[in-house]
Amino acid sequence: MKILLCFGTRPEAIKMAPLYHELKKTNFQVKVCVTAQHREMLDQVLGFFEIIPEYDLDLMQPNQTLNGLSATILSKIDFVLNKEKPNLVIVHGDTTTSSMVALAAFHQGIKVGHVEAGLRTYNKKSPFPEEINRQLTSRLADIHFTPTYLATQNLLNEGVLQKNIIETGNTVIDALFWTLSKIEMPNYINPEIEKLTKSIPLNKKIILVTGHRRENFGHGFENLCKALLKISEREDVTIVYPVHLNPNVKEIVYNQLSKKENIHLITPVSYPAFVWLMKQSYLIVTDSGGIQEEAPSLGKPIIVTRTVSERPEGVTSGHSILVGTDEKKIIESIVAILNKDLIYENKNNPYGNGDAAQQILKYLLDND
Ligand code: UDP
Repeated sequence: MKILLCFGTRPEAIKMAPLYHELKKTNFQVKVCVTAQHREMLDQVLGFFEIIPEYDLDLMQPNQTLNGLSATILSKIDFVLNKEKPNLVIVHGDTTTSSMVALAAFHQGIKVGHVEAGLRTYNKKSPFPEEINRQLTSRLADIHFTPTYLATQNLLNEGVLQKNIIETGNTVIDALFWTLSKIEMPNYINPEIEKLTKSIPLNKKIILVTGHRRENFGHGFENLCKALLKISEREDVTIVYPVHLNPNVKEIVYNQLSKKENIHLITPVSYPAFVWLMKQSYLIVTDSGGIQEEAPSLGKPIIVTRTVSERPEGVTSGHSILVGTDEKKIIESIVAILNKDLIYENKNNPYGNGDAAQQILKYLLDND
């Protein structure tokens, strides 16, 4: 069987890496095509996970509209599909790359596998455009690899046949465990981690912050910054914030936070350095999906700066709190966690246990 893996962003690359390495152990012919929707951050991940794509569509353009991006993906991926003629195209998650590549494969009569299928908010506007991307991809896909029971139920409720759904857990946990095993090796040396060790006071409670969602552009990020300014007045904390490269995020965050001594604004770090930072942190404030999935395995509480999440499992299990982007609510929840000295003992991660890629592979081998 010839398989083409297609992805475009940092989180997709992290989550596809374990599957790529499993597939490479087999006799399947495996090719990788990246659209490079997020150029620099994607390249960091490809390097760390040693993925060398056969095709790089290099689509990132400044101020690109979603329609422009969609049209370019559709037109450029055709060449790859015609040349490779894969039996199966595997896409991931909820990006424009996932939905457009799935559509292009469908138009050519090529089977589509969807990793991290079935996540839903059922709110077209939130997250925008991710919810529609994942719903579109589900309509186009032939095989759905779901991370959780809830995701499976969502697809069953939408009429997807049980035989086409394989519940595997999330491959991000595989990537996380693999990375932990690397960075915990006694002789592991990483210049980025060394630099962070020197610049961040590790004796303080580290609040790790990230954010990138379109729904939070503008007011959302402004409020988050105000809340962080207030929290930074405490002497027992230090805030570490790898700022997303999107100008809609970068400008607000640097304008508001760059002058505070105990707020460390840094450029996005490589995956091993970020995993190290998560390990050092006391709590994490984020709107990221992947981090909501990873943090429970490290026992770190997460404050989610969104009002709705397609990942309710972590809220139910008590690992994450949804607070939205109200300044007061963000401050209150951070203070509550800091003051209670709350450390999660529960490391039972609702998103998976690290063997998702193996399960996907098993299905593909059994159904070759
Ligand atoms: N991450 C990283 N470097 C950073 C920030 C995050 O490698 O500076 C990783 C993080 O561990 C997670 C993924 O990137 O696996 C999350 O990406 P993002 O928040 O951009 O997207 P989402 O998960 O919301 O799709």
